[in-house]
Amino acid sequence: MQAKFILKKDTYRESRGGYSRFLNIFCDSCGAHLLLYQKDGPGELKRMYLDRVLAPKVSPHKNSEFLCLSCKKIIGTFYIYKKEKRRAIRLYQSSVFKKISNGVYPMSKR
Ligand SMILES: [Zn+2]
Repeated sequence: MQAKFILKKDTYRESRGGYSRFLNIFCDSCGAHLLLYQKDGPGELKRMYLDRVLAPKVSPHKNSEFLCLSCKKIIGTFYIYKKEKRRAIRLYQSSVFKKISNGVYPMSKR
């Protein structure tokens, strides 16, 4: 079953200009779909806040690294973004690629 997500509106979004979109995030190494993400504001995707990971849910337990479940490549590391005290994943350089999403998860097959 697919679910259609709704963009979150909160102070994090407001502090980034009030503009958000959905992104599908993929492993750059094997092309596997990693997650559906809400990106707030302009700029590069350098980290992913866990409260913006819409599906599937990821939680930093045991391992401090975020792996691609398909090829086991390390995508990034979990940490706390101090300025906002938000849990996040710091992405390794060119570990992912992204595509604009319509907020539907899982993605429709084409
Ligand atoms: Zn992979």
